Amino acid sequence: MNRRQALQVLASLVAGGAATIALGGPKILAVRAWPGKSSTRITIESDSELRFFVTALSNPDRAVVDLSDVQADAAFQKALETLKNDTGVLARARIGQFRADTARLVLELKSRSETAAFALPPVGQYRHRLVIDLTPVDADDPIATFLAKIIEREAQLEKAADLAAIEAAKPVPPILPPKVNKLPPVLPPVAQRPPTPKHVKPFVVVLDPGHGGEDPGAIGPAGTYEKDVVLAVAHKTKALLEQDPRIVVLMTREEDVFIALGDRVRKARGVNADVFVSIHADAFTRPDARGSSVFALSERGASSAAAKWMADKENQSDLIGGVRLVGRDPSLSKMILEMSQSITNAESMKLGRGMIGEIKPINTLHKGSVEQAGFAVLKAPDIPSILIETAFISNPEEEAKLSNPAHQQKLARAIRNGVRKFLMTQQVRA
Ligand SMILES: [Zn+2]
Repeated sequence: MNRRQALQVLASLVAGGAATIALGGPKILAVRAWPGKSSTRITIESDSELRFFVTALSNPDRAVVDLSDVQADAAFQKALETLKNDTGVLARARIGQFRADTARLVLELKSRSETAAFALPPVGQYRHRLVIDLTPVDADDPIATFLAKIIEREAQLEKAADLAAIEAAKPVPPILPPKVNKLPPVLPPVAQRPPTPKHVKPFVVVLDPGHGGEDPGAIGPAGTYEKDVVLAVAHKTKALLEQDPRIVVLMTREEDVFIALGDRVRKARGVNADVFVSIHADAFTRPDARGSSVFALSERGASSAAAKWMADKENQSDLIGGVRLVGRDPSLSKMILEMSQSITNAESMKLGRGMIGEIKPINTLHKGSVEQAGFAVLKAPDIPSILIETAFISNPEEEAKLSNPAHQQKLARAIRNGVRKFLMTQQVRA
């Protein structure tokens, strides 16, 4: 407390203002909720660092967040009012003054949830943040659900292949030779049994709409968020790809939630993906920058300064979206770096080149070749991976296109074609 603040406290004490005890304490600026299928994130933004204590209680299920030196004042109440009730696992949120120097936020929950809380320093457009992740203990594991879907599809494909084989193996009625004297009888043709298909595993495609939740990605001049348009394009691409029964698609996020870069890669590896496509729409400092780009991973420096700039920008997502440092698995990035990626890289380049060919007819290309840089999200060592910058959302014309559902559908069709053509050149999996 500096001298001026001390004087203010003194002044308010003289005025009998007991409620100003926490003067100089953090002010709550915003409270946000990001409901997802498997967990809900609550973010409390404040003008200075919060000291907090989170407790999970049952009967009824709730998370209690005690905030030191914070007043449950009108500003906090106002911030809380923007929070929707009945969102994700959150039923309702309320605040009260627990002690003179401690505000208590009670998050009433729909079901028993694990709570994890961590603080984030100011970054991007955000001031200090306290992040509370609420994960219902009975939530479905999306990866397990997806793996079950693959097995089910495999059984369907196998059945269809067997039926086709039976159909093909049906004896063909012999063509009787015309009766010609003195010639040896022509043997009726033997029905050819088609080779039994050995593998009927569906191809697994992982679509990765960038950013989400607290991380809006780039923001267009008309206020369009990258995270929203790329999610829309990904949903459309998934629908198109899944018209082919041989393809199943997992999206790293299906909603407006933040997923850490490492978790995106982990999801793809968890389902043994054949292809990973990250979808973005970024910004540049110059509004006239335009066009689509396709990137693959490079660990030996970027192919251009612009590619490096873009990778650095994308890799900041974890800071803005919010990743808990404690408990993060450090072995993943280490293991990934140690594994050889040369074969995968060649495949990624092939996938990228095909993709450029598909995008070319619908949008200007920023560069006619696949660019390379150290994108963290492309680091699965065994999965061909590319990142598509669909357009520059910072360019007013391209922003308008990106928000247009018809253009989104065109992009989705191009991405579907690029992925599908690549998969069809792959050997059927063992
Ligand atoms: Zn992006």
